[in-house]
Amino acid sequence: MAKTPISLIIDDGSPVNLYYFHDLMREHELIVPIEHVQRFASICEKHGVRGKFSVVPMPAGLGRLDKGLSHCPLEHVKKFNETVRKRIAPMFSLTPEIISHYFAFDVKTERFLGMQEDIYFSTLSAEQIADYVSYAINILCNVDLVPDGVTSPWMTGIDNEQNYAEGIGMAFKRTLNRDRTFYFLHNQSVLNAPKVMCSTPETGMVVSIPRDFPDVFWPGNNPGNDADVKRKIKEGIDRIISEDGRGGQFRELLDAGRPIVFISHWQSLFSDGRAYGLDGFEVLMERISRYFGDNVEWLTFKEIAERY
Ligand SMILES: [Zn+2]
Repeated sequence: MAKTPISLIIDDGSPVNLYYFHDLMREHELIVPIEHVQRFASICEKHGVRGKFSVVPMPAGLGRLDKGLSHCPLEHVKKFNETVRKRIAPMFSLTPEIISHYFAFDVKTERFLGMQEDIYFSTLSAEQIADYVSYAINILCNVDLVPDGVTSPWMTGIDNEQNYAEGIGMAFKRTLNRDRTFYFLHNQSVLNAPKVMCSTPETGMVVSIPRDFPDVFWPGNNPGNDADVKRKIKEGIDRIISEDGRGGQFRELLDAGRPIVFISHWQSLFSDGRAYGLDGFEVLMERISRYFGDNVEWLTFKEIAERY
């Protein structure tokens, strides 16, 4: 029997916790320690996990990964880049999550604008999007984190999707001479399988790859009663694969004939230093290996884009 392809999305990867800036009303830990990156990598190595991992090139506009960030020691940034290069990149297709996952950046004047990236992208031409994405790609290439596709911060591109897809393709063609790339924007309710969004000599083939489940580790982001947070995460895991492996949405999707895609966020796994999300992630990966190890095949997003 053919194995079902599965894949994991990690959004918002960065040496700093992006949620610190996305949830300004509550206190959050800013620096994500290297031990967190190491432990995440070890869990993925143990279970043979493959997928797509975001690296935000100018996280929250604090600076550039190739030059240093404010509020974050340079040594930490370098160590993050190195750890991602050595331990994450062999298992995941890397993607910029556009430039800052925060305020939009004028790539001509190199200044931040007073609006977020998702709003900015609503009105850009494919050509302008290509310039923007190229800027992001170049920062990652400067630190040897060569990307294979793009992740959309929030719902960036959703109201301008044809230009978005073409701009991404043009950027990868120009900077890395790629004939095929992908982006992540949608969930299964919008797009029920990977889809070719454009394929021309200027853009190459651009594939949109959707996710299946919500981020069940997201409660880890919220401060508050620890027992409550852990219970919510456990319930989320059980909804995907029950403790005895017999129930859950994952089993129902196994024969869908398309890749099944999980998602989490860097900050969810980190859980402000409490690692409740990462603990939960480990439980979910163990359930997949134990109950479905022989039926599934982990793929990177680059591999999905090549096959579908
Ligand atoms: Zn994000």
